[in-house]
Amino acid sequence: MSATIVPLPSAASSVEEGKFADLALRGGRVHCLDLDATVFEAIAVRAGRIVATGSDADIAAFLGPATEVVELAGRAVLPGINDAHLHAVWMGARWPKTLFEEGGGEGAHGKLLSNAEERKQAILKAWSVMASLGITSYTEPGIGPGEDDGETGCFGTPVLETYLELAGTAAQTARVTLLRLFGILDGPSDFASMRRSIDVEVRAADPNWLAIPGVKIFADGIPPMRNAWLRDPYPGGGHGGLMTGSGDDAERLADFTAMVELAHARRLQVAVHATGDRTIEEFIAIVERLGGADGLRHYVIHGDLVTPEQLARMKQAGMGLALQPLIADLTRDWMAQAVGPATAARAWPLHLMLAKGMRVVLSSDAPVTSPDWRRSIASAASQLEAQGVAVGGEILTELLRMYTAIPADQDGALDWKGTIEVGKVADLCVLDRDPYMTGARNFSDIEVDLTIVDGRTVFDRLA
Ligand SMILES: [Zn+2]
Repeated sequence: MSATIVPLPSAASSVEEGKFADLALRGGRVHCLDLDATVFEAIAVRAGRIVATGSDADIAAFLGPATEVVELAGRAVLPGINDAHLHAVWMGARWPKTLFEEGGGEGAHGKLLSNAEERKQAILKAWSVMASLGITSYTEPGIGPGEDDGETGCFGTPVLETYLELAGTAAQTARVTLLRLFGILDGPSDFASMRRSIDVEVRAADPNWLAIPGVKIFADGIPPMRNAWLRDPYPGGGHGGLMTGSGDDAERLADFTAMVELAHARRLQVAVHATGDRTIEEFIAIVERLGGADGLRHYVIHGDLVTPEQLARMKQAGMGLALQPLIADLTRDWMAQAVGPATAARAWPLHLMLAKGMRVVLSSDAPVTSPDWRRSIASAASQLEAQGVAVGGEILTELLRMYTAIPADQDGALDWKGTIEVGKVADLCVLDRDPYMTGARNFSDIEVDLTIVDGRTVFDRLA
């Protein structure tokens, strides 16, 4: 026998010395939610990033003596959920009450937060609720000087200060995309106020934890209140109108146009609360005149009465839409009373938003409704079925992507979050069963077992 010992390929042969995974999850159904809907068995994570995906055997080389191993035993893993429209501070201050459910309507107004400690506690409460739901990213839609004298204390500049203090600390368990607000939340705004404040510099935070890419504009109201701006009159008269500026329709539109143009000129993302088809029309027309969204990913929030033709133009102009399935469910009858059954029947056309390349995200608008994304998915699935779409695995992938990959794209962050891929951050949500076996209608039965943010476990149901 030769004295030369040829070493067997060791488990660590493909891993650089000292580069074992901190965390590995194996033996499960890992739904990457990339465009190919790839499914793996296992993931390895190091220093907050995904370093390997594949079969259990594929990641074995990454397991070192200090690697924490989660045995999935058939459980499912999704990318962390991204709720693209969730008022976290307001939700934390009101928790567990929502406006439409759980008796949250009464006492909806009045001061909720008065000082720095209360603001901090509201954010921490919201983060802990989100961690328990598998939510690892969200958009806080509207914080800024327009609400400095606001009645709730949930949306003013001091809230931004609290966010800046907490950003990137161990207390933070969800990544924040924050939109600045220069008017009143759900109320009037004007170009002069935006012009006055838009160039006030905001202290920079690590954009992986607190990104401030754009502005929120409240353009109109909501159809049930008959203050959404419609092309055709409401039964009984009136078209509704814009909340921007003052005066007649033309003057209000000029104010709205100036706001969108100014934010666009500052290279800011513009998210517009727009529910009436006329408001949506004017927003699209402004962006088209600007030559499209130009990579800034402007989007419509709510979009209740968006038309098929408008959806096609939005896609062409690089614009997206943030839809809330639970609001559609909860207000459909109320909408029909206000606009008539024919108009109400074409509201929230989710079936038309499944078109490839359309940037549509699902979200909760919590605390308007529950932040529970499982309920949103179940609701979206039943709406699609009512619209004649059979909800199978492919559609379920689309719905799940609307809560993960597509909002990451809306955040301009799809290169580092939103799907489970090597090199991306390890923001993960472990479910007690495979949602593709459960079916979208029964989503509410699924339990969130683990929430992992940046490779760190921030919620463990079984602990
Ligand atoms: Zn909202």
